[in-house]
Amino acid sequence: MKVLVVNPAEVRQLLLMNECIPIMEQALMNLGRGEGINPLRPVMFLPEKVGALGMMPAYLGEPPAMGAKIVSVMPKNYGTKYDSHQGVVLLFENEHGSLLAMVDASEITAIRTAAVSAVATRLLARPDASDLAIIGSGVQGASHLEAMLLARPIDRIRIWSKTGSNSQLFSEREGAKFTRHIEVMPSVEATVDGADIICTTTMAPQPILMGDWLAPGVHINAVGSSIKSTRELDTAAVVKSRLFVDRRESTLNEAGDFLFPKAEGAINDDHIQGELGEILLGQIEGRKTVEEITLFKSLGLGVEDIASAFHIYEKAQQSGTGTWIDWSS
Ligand code: NDP
Repeated sequence: MKVLVVNPAEVRQLLLMNECIPIMEQALMNLGRGEGINPLRPVMFLPEKVGALGMMPAYLGEPPAMGAKIVSVMPKNYGTKYDSHQGVVLLFENEHGSLLAMVDASEITAIRTAAVSAVATRLLARPDASDLAIIGSGVQGASHLEAMLLARPIDRIRIWSKTGSNSQLFSEREGAKFTRHIEVMPSVEATVDGADIICTTTMAPQPILMGDWLAPGVHINAVGSSIKSTRELDTAAVVKSRLFVDRRESTLNEAGDFLFPKAEGAINDDHIQGELGEILLGQIEGRKTVEEITLFKSLGLGVEDIASAFHIYEKAQQSGTGTWIDWSS
């Protein structure tokens, strides 16, 4: 038996953002149809909560794949040579349960998360949404810029990040990459003022985006907080938004952005309008009016990683990319 190993550079080559967006649509629809299994993820926090190890098992009938992402999250790595999210996606086939591939998880996470936000933006942002605000200049900030450029006809881009010099670097690096002017802003409030699309992609533990700052008709992708003890949005922002999620069960158990306002009594579980998969399947409506504020709360799902890894596995075989190792007993 042979197992394919795919490293970060090879993932970047094989998982293109414009290919990943429809793959995420399919995965979310399959989950919505009940054809996927996506249990809640165990997260093991390290002493003093300096980091965590998350385990995300998942199964999909179509594409036929199962596996698990194991990812470490080390916030202190930011600004060093180490990625803050590192790990591996282990891909298995469904019939005999044999291991097919070990794929770098940092790149999959960077790409698939932004691709899901692109799905949400296509479903929920106004068709003419063109003014983009990105909050956070890290890995997710960069991949969200790429995804948003594919999702809507963006003609203005603003960036804010906690460390001003990182906003400047982001503006220069990503501006050159996409031949776009990216405005460096002095505050979150100035960045989101009048924006049509806001992506929050930070490790902020406390709210950085306030409801009072939101313009009518804006769409928000809230990506940065994926645990129940942190949030990026204040209660007012969540209360005044129509809230859509990747998965209801995950939101009720893992999303600080939802659980803090709920604990304050400001919202209840009915505040969740539905899942992206349900909109894609035509079971519920997305945006209803141009004035309403829509919010996609992203937590990240194992099925997204497995679907991405399966695509990488197939493409790697076609293109001869990756390294095969002998796994015979
Ligand atoms: P990076 O380490 O690449 O970037 C971290 C970003 O967070 C930087 O822009 C940094 O700003 C900012 N930041 C750190 N602390 C604060 C703070 N106290 N207030 C405001 N901003 C802060 O991380 P990633 O881009 O990979 O991940 C960003 C977030 O997204 C993480 O919380 C991660 O867990 C989450 N995530 C969510 C996923 C999902 O599926 N929903 C998937 C992957 C990640 P600066 O550089 O200016 O200091």
